[in-house]
Amino acid sequence: MTVLDALAPTAPWAGPMLYACLLFGLRYLVVAGFWFVMSRPVAGRGGGRAHAVTPGSRFDVRSAALHEAVRSAVAIGVFTLVYGVCAGWQLDRWMAVYLDDRHPLWWIPVSIVLALLLHDTLFYWLHRLMHTRALFRRVHLVHHRSIHPTSFAAYCFHPLEALLEGLAVLAVFCIVPMHLGAMLAFETIGLIYNCYGHCGREFYPVGWGSHPLGRWLNSSSNHAHHHLRGSGNYGLYFMVWDHLMGTAVEQNALQQDAPDTVPMELLPDSQMV
Ligand SMILES: [Zn+2]
Ligand SMILES: [Zn+2]
Repeated sequence: MTVLDALAPTAPWAGPMLYACLLFGLRYLVVAGFWFVMSRPVAGRGGGRAHAVTPGSRFDVRSAALHEAVRSAVAIGVFTLVYGVCAGWQLDRWMAVYLDDRHPLWWIPVSIVLALLLHDTLFYWLHRLMHTRALFRRVHLVHHRSIHPTSFAAYCFHPLEALLEGLAVLAVFCIVPMHLGAMLAFETIGLIYNCYGHCGREFYPVGWGSHPLGRWLNSSSNHAHHHLRGSGNYGLYFMVWDHLMGTAVEQNALQQDAPDTVPMELLPDSQMV
């Protein structure tokens, strides 16, 4: 056997890659498009409430969304590649995804909640890693170029960050036994929450961030603050790790960020009219 034979995929990979590409791409377009229409992240327009860091009228939301969508397409390509490698080299045998009835029905919702908690944990620490001096400018800055993100920023990552994010999700599927339907539901719920977090408007009730339940959930306002200031509120779905590690920015601090405090020179040219 030659080296090339040893490195060659042992199972069909093109079909799974095509399926993953269509699934990731179409789901992203539908979900991000939905939140984009719902929110129109420009002051004075859209559903929900403008949060404290909504940009002013100079912000060109369409070109910002287009820029984010193009970068997101690259990330979707990386996710597709990861699934292709998994299928081709049969690494998916390490995943705990099942199609039969080996676990009771109640496990399906429980497994989705566990997957969200585990993914949030992996995301939080990966995100903290991305904010280190070594990785921020080289890698994570691609995501933070969106100082006022739109829903299309959900997958707007440097390819290396996209690879690590894709592997984090695969790690969840290796650890938490999930029915295929639960796996798809978890991915879709995750993307819906991710696009909401970047949409530029707030849909939770006023005061939700200081509610005993609401303070443990991440929100669009919290993540908008992260993009504007470049620190704090590192979680994806929850604020659990942010509260535990002292990186949460409380709501009263968010309210102090008036829209006109945004340093406009920080906006990339692509987002200016
Ligand atoms: Zn960040
Ligand atoms: Zn973000």
